[in-house]
Amino acid sequence: MQCPKCDCHQLFPARLEQDLAAYQCKRCQGHLIALIAYRDWMERHQLAEVKDGASLQPDDTTVALQCTRCQRLMTKYSYDSTGHKLDYCSHCDDVWLDAGEWAYLRAIKLAGELPAILTEPWQRKLKQQQLEKNSAQRWERRFGSDTYDKVATFRQWLWSQDNAQSIVDYISRPLDSDSEP
Ligand SMILES: [Zn+2]
Ligand SMILES: [Zn+2]
Repeated sequence: MQCPKCDCHQLFPARLEQDLAAYQCKRCQGHLIALIAYRDWMERHQLAEVKDGASLQPDDTTVALQCTRCQRLMTKYSYDSTGHKLDYCSHCDDVWLDAGEWAYLRAIKLAGELPAILTEPWQRKLKQQQLEKNSAQRWERRFGSDTYDKVATFRQWLWSQDNAQSIVDYISRPLDSDSEP
């Protein structure tokens, strides 16, 4: 089997964890893992906590990869808000993990969530978070970060109040309107 990332290099049998068989490319160090093997392994093992993995960064591929088994294009799935993506062939039920990606997934506690990451709700939630982040950044640029922090904190509090709309009505009145008869 050829590496989906570096065309002319072969994949060799390897282990992602003890007892968890995968294939690995000796050149780019990526792993190909069959989800059926992963699911089976997850049922019998607990992933030990990884300490101090915050600095790990996977060597992400940005181009679409071709599945090494069926030659179809693999689909990219985001798994966190940093934009890292894993590659998945739904036809073969195989996941391609770039070099360092498994260690990174373990460090951010998502290594046990591969099947969930490949679902529509997971992807939708990530997109929603991204939209919220973009929106927050736009307001922050308009206000400056000090003002934005204050206003955002106030807004959080405001919309947790039962009478939020009345408070909005009140604070949107110009100050001099209070002295009107
Ligand atoms: Zn490779
Ligand atoms: Zn395939």
